[in-house]
Amino acid sequence: MNKGKKLYEGKAKIIYETNKNGLVIQHFKDDATAFNALKKANFEGKGVLNNRISEYLLTSLAQCGIQTHLVKRLNMREQLVKEAKIIPIEFVIRNIATGSLTKRLGITDGTVLEKPLLEYYLKNDELNDPIVSEEHIYSFEWATEKEIKTINKMSLRINDILQGIFRGVGIKLVDFKLEYGKFWNKDTEDNEIILADEISPDTCRLWDIKTDKKLDKDRFRKDLGNLIEAYQDVAKRLGILPEITNISEVNFGKTSSIKFKKK
Ligand code: C5P
Repeated sequence: MNKGKKLYEGKAKIIYETNKNGLVIQHFKDDATAFNALKKANFEGKGVLNNRISEYLLTSLAQCGIQTHLVKRLNMREQLVKEAKIIPIEFVIRNIATGSLTKRLGITDGTVLEKPLLEYYLKNDELNDPIVSEEHIYSFEWATEKEIKTINKMSLRINDILQGIFRGVGIKLVDFKLEYGKFWNKDTEDNEIILADEISPDTCRLWDIKTDKKLDKDRFRKDLGNLIEAYQDVAKRLGILPEITNISEVNFGKTSSIKFKKK
């Protein structure tokens, strides 16, 4: 299998074409962005950690019957994935109120939700990924009712599975973001919904069960430091990395820069 030209470059990943029909390579970068790329930094080794953590989580989900885009990990930074037509919605599942939910609605940070809350955000950087309702999704044909019904069910099941995996290693799954795509299934001759993108400490909020220590990208968003150390901690607890690793820590002070868009 050959790696072809770059098809798309996002904030944290690059997609390359391959010579295999329907398959592309997903490359994990070390770049981190927050607040719609107003804040940027580079953390040596982040891409390697996210590649491994996401591979582990998507493989675990597949073992429970969730269809995902992951075919296999190719190397430390790359995965072979199915080329899905991405639905332009970010699906956020929340178990504990924090982040934009608390800011938007004034809910007390850390409130445990009665049941998981599913939210939809339009994938649109220019508009800052606005929250949208199911009705918006149908009105503007971003997805069909049948697709959303399938995705809602899959998302709640994924939440159950991931909560179990993380709880088992002393981590609370506070909230996370999922992306889905449509992939043509030759056998059934129909488009099927598959889980795409990644699941990693970049896309989840993960708190230590006892101390509530943040083990995710909030360490960057909130300038808490030790981001790589936290991601390594997650990988070690999941049994992906040995206790001792050589992935070095990069100092926060040197790498973070904040740029504000001109109005
Ligand atoms: O910022 P907010 O509280 O809405 O984020 C909810 C969850 O979705 C967090 O786990 C965050 O990491 C994730 N998220 C993401 N990509 C975005 C927006 C949110 O991974 N563009």
